[in-house]
Amino acid sequence: MSLWVPAAAGPTYMNMPQDPGKTAHSGPLDRLHRPLRDLRISVTDRCNFRCVYCMPKEVFGNDYQFLERKEILTFEEIARVALIFQSLGAGKIRLTGGEPLVRRNLEQLIAQLAAIPGLDLTLTTNGSLLERKAEALKKAGLKRITVSLDALDDPTFKRMNDVDFPVAKVLAGIDAAAAAGLAPVKINMVVKRGMNEHGILPMARHFHGSGHILRFIEYMDVGHTNGWRMDDVVTAREIVSMIGREMPLEPADPNYTGEVAQRWRYKDGGGEIGVIASVTQAFCRDCTRIRLSTEGKLYTCLFATAGHDLRTLLRSGAPDGEIRDTVAAIWSKRTDRYSEIRTSQTAKLEKIEMSYIGG
Ligand code: SAM
Ligand code: SF4
Ligand code: SF4
Repeated sequence: MSLWVPAAAGPTYMNMPQDPGKTAHSGPLDRLHRPLRDLRISVTDRCNFRCVYCMPKEVFGNDYQFLERKEILTFEEIARVALIFQSLGAGKIRLTGGEPLVRRNLEQLIAQLAAIPGLDLTLTTNGSLLERKAEALKKAGLKRITVSLDALDDPTFKRMNDVDFPVAKVLAGIDAAAAAGLAPVKINMVVKRGMNEHGILPMARHFHGSGHILRFIEYMDVGHTNGWRMDDVVTAREIVSMIGREMPLEPADPNYTGEVAQRWRYKDGGGEIGVIASVTQAFCRDCTRIRLSTEGKLYTCLFATAGHDLRTLLRSGAPDGEIRDTVAAIWSKRTDRYSEIRTSQTAKLEKIEMSYIGG
């Protein structure tokens, strides 16, 4: 692999500290002095769910134009990009989508990425195909997994996934993941007022003492199709106090700087929960994430309105060093802090859909 030598008049760099699971590298800093640490890769823009807050049927119905095969990055292209990003300081990769497990032969990509020394690899899934795939994912080298589950009762869950998918199958997927050793399993619940906030306590009770880590996510104005309103957000504060009244909680220290979930521990030793207060307590100042869309566009913020085409460069025969310089230059110009400046007006902007950019 060629050595990364920053151009004299190029971006600002830092010597990145040695983090567990990460290799030390000089990497670019953005305009707000944030290093690049995490890469989220959307491996498909397709999904077998139509969650009302993410891919509403009115928009992602039968005639929606998903990407064609030739447009999406191959596993080899993704693995190459992963190495380049790692050399810039991004030692953590999350595979996402769309629903990553609907991408054919995903285990092959996992195996290629898991073979990269020092790379911290994880995946977010809706859990629908996990019961049959958990073992193969583990064998391919995946270490950890996050499963999304928005309710424990079928009527609510089916109303949210909008494809009549039952809770029991996702729970079976979570069990299979734990049995395969993809532990601790993290479980993400997006809370939307009027939709599933009555499910907060049942979810907390169910996963208390299970060894899994339940995390509550404030409903966000991603994309421009979910009709977001601030009134729909159940705040992290409300969630913690609701659970704490029944099962007392105490704050726990973050695992690392920039961790998006605030950790809370059950005082009775029943494990921990997390809350992701992306709306009410924005964490942009520590945001070290970049996203690669299914067709190879780079987005420096979840709420971006435009991306940077990397696929053309990847397919042009450009050497790794040129691609690295391009990514470093993009990162060094980054000023994103959408969640800190969100208003009801910005919520109406034509942002990129989350299922395409990768959640
Ligand atoms: N399909 C996979 C899944 O659902 O886990 C991965 C992709 S999904 C876009 C990634 C995460 O984003 C999920 O946990 C999902 O619940 C969350 N998400 C989607 N839309 C959201 C919204 N409007 N607000 C907050 N979280 C959202
Ligand atoms: Fe699919 Fe995940 Fe979006 Fe739901 S949140 S529609 S499962 S991509
Ligand atoms: Fe990062 Fe953008 Fe989210 Fe802020 S709004 S935390 S910059 S992805």
